[in-house]
Amino acid sequence: MAGESTPQQQDQDFADYRGVWVLVEHARGRVNTVSWELLGEGRKLAARLDVELAAAVLGNQVDHLVDEAFEFGADLVYRVDDPVLEYYRTRPYCHGLSSLIRAYKPEILLLGATSMGRDLASAVATEVLTGLTADTTMLDVEPPPSRLLLASRPAFGEKILATILCKHRRPQMATVRPKTFAMPPRERGRRGPVIDAPLGLTEADIATKVLDYVAEEHYGLKLQEADVIVAGGRGLGDPAGFKLLEELAEALGGVVGASRAAVDAGWISHEYQVGQTGRTVRPKLYIACGISGAIQHLVGMEKSDMIVAINKDPRAPIFQLAHAGIVGDLYQVVPVLTRAFRERLGGQPLLSA
Ligand SMILES: Cc1cc2nc3c(=O)[nH]c(=O)nc-3n(C[C@H](O)[C@H](O)[C@H](O)COP(=O)(O)OP(=O)(O)OC[C@H]3O[C@@H](n4cnc5c(N)ncnc54)[C@H](O)[C@@H]3O)c2cc1C
Repeated sequence: MAGESTPQQQDQDFADYRGVWVLVEHARGRVNTVSWELLGEGRKLAARLDVELAAAVLGNQVDHLVDEAFEFGADLVYRVDDPVLEYYRTRPYCHGLSSLIRAYKPEILLLGATSMGRDLASAVATEVLTGLTADTTMLDVEPPPSRLLLASRPAFGEKILATILCKHRRPQMATVRPKTFAMPPRERGRRGPVIDAPLGLTEADIATKVLDYVAEEHYGLKLQEADVIVAGGRGLGDPAGFKLLEELAEALGGVVGASRAAVDAGWISHEYQVGQTGRTVRPKLYIACGISGAIQHLVGMEKSDMIVAINKDPRAPIFQLAHAGIVGDLYQVVPVLTRAFRERLGGQPLLSA
């Protein structure tokens, strides 16, 4: 790849590449909100580079997604609307997005680090011969003239934060985990220009056929969308401890989460795990019960609006991050909280907004 042209030649070519793009991910008409979170973050990058923020919307009958993309901040939308794109399949989506990239040349392309985003991003990066930083947790750009995307992500078991550059290829691509960035405000009725492009493939060109679509109850998604999470760790000492946490979560209108130690002990399934190798969450309230606060756990929940820690060790690192802490035995503290919230809330969720 490096032998094709010198960095100087490539730098000249880069002048054609302008704009920050976000791929709008959706399934059966529902957007994955990570796309809007990325539009919010993409806006900051676009402002620093003084370029437009665009959304790439691929699918079948996607007008409503185009409208939403404008309302969440896109200045313009590139649309590929084709029945072949009814369901996500790597080949047609990769073809459609790669064709858009070749035609309209974005300098930065962001996708969610979801199953679909990861699959599509790697296929597209290979197709257009560029670099991709996966699972980014921080994004920034160097101002012109370098215009480099600074894509940072934890490395070596979270011990360092590596900032990865893509100096000699365009676009600069990154995937970002859901809930890493906040949702931008929605401006209803906001609209902009739409550029339509053909897919250039027919059903006959694609070997993979979708025969049926079976929706799976996925706890991980529920965890990511929850406003209140009551999470348990090794301090529970026993799988039965989660029953106690479920009661508190229920009193608050929330759900249960877990540390990896609790998952590894076999007390609860991996779908509940929060952290580096689990889910990244951003609830309004996160109650950590018997969780010490290892960095691999913290990276998954540190952006929660309010963190409450319950731990019998006053020196537990979680207290350094927590907004409020209760030093004590969770088996004594949690039932008291559950009773108090039941009385106060009377079955209403703590946070209904
Ligand atoms: C590559 C890698 C990836 C990882 N990914 C993740 C991840 O995604 N998520 C994750 O969570 N971890 C992850 N880990 C593991 C992480 O390093 C920690 O080992 C783990 O988070 C510890 O879980 P814990 O806090 O429940 O257990 P511990 O660290 O053992 O803490 C238990 C806490 O409970 C307290 N306690 C004990 N009894 C009670 C009681 N009765 N009442 C109140 N408090 C009590 C103790 O004081 C202690 O602070 C990862 C590790 C590696 C190397």
